Amino acid sequence: MKLCRFNGGRLGVVRAEGIVDVTPVLERLPAQRYPLPRHDLLIAHLPALRPAIEEAAAVGERFNPAQVHYDPPVANPGKIIGAPINYQAHAQESASDANIGHGRAITSIGDWGLFLKAGSALIGVGSAITLRFPERRNDHEIELAVVIGSRCHQVAAADALRHVAGYATALDMTLRGTEFQCFRKSIDSYAVVGPWLVTADEVPDPGALDLWLTVNGEPRQRANTRQLIYDVPRLIEFASAFYTLEPGDIIMTGTPEGVGPVRPGDLIEAGVQGLGDLAMRVAPRYA
Ligand code: MN
Repeated sequence: MKLCRFNGGRLGVVRAEGIVDVTPVLERLPAQRYPLPRHDLLIAHLPALRPAIEEAAAVGERFNPAQVHYDPPVANPGKIIGAPINYQAHAQESASDANIGHGRAITSIGDWGLFLKAGSALIGVGSAITLRFPERRNDHEIELAVVIGSRCHQVAAADALRHVAGYATALDMTLRGTEFQCFRKSIDSYAVVGPWLVTADEVPDPGALDLWLTVNGEPRQRANTRQLIYDVPRLIEFASAFYTLEPGDIIMTGTPEGVGPVRPGDLIEAGVQGLGDLAMRVAPRYA
């Protein structure tokens, strides 16, 4: 199942015939009272809601996928987790280009650990990426995003994939510089996810997906997730050794080689195999 959020709070199922509005299903989510859970309510209840979503999709209004405004497929991720230097060729380009590495010792993801991106950075592909700091380099990073489906802590890699709700195409937009990643990568609009979430049952092997990105039609990044240093199960094991993972948490799994700057007005086109493509214009002005 492919699920999207669109046009300001609507829930859709992505089908060959278009996007089918299944928003009434959201009324089945349990009412919440303070204090609210840290997890995403829809993702937490998705397995139970799937039959109702299928029923609603049989009668829902259809929308043209090219004409809706896409919101992030996960509304309220408790955490957006990033994976640094998780493709060998990207680690090499980071070590050899001072404008990427900024003097940091490029060692390994095991040494560096993971980082968090602020939830306020999250946008869907219908919104604009708005750059900050025009005198500095702002890079694109195409990544496979993993959406956690069930609460877990200290999970073994062998058990990890059963905690995945689904996958999505993502951009880990990055201001280059000397500050911590959690600061530079958390600017508003620097966490792009979408256009939609593809549930895990439709992605038998997250370790064999092509991913690609172009800027103004020029090829920049092309790789396959089999080149991940820490693959998806290992990343979940690694993250859950430190954090409790909760439904809706997003893990951006790292970017392959070919990162490079974008400027206001550029057109970024990108995708991950089977997960949907995006085409986003960088806002014409710096924020
Ligand atoms: Mn990244």
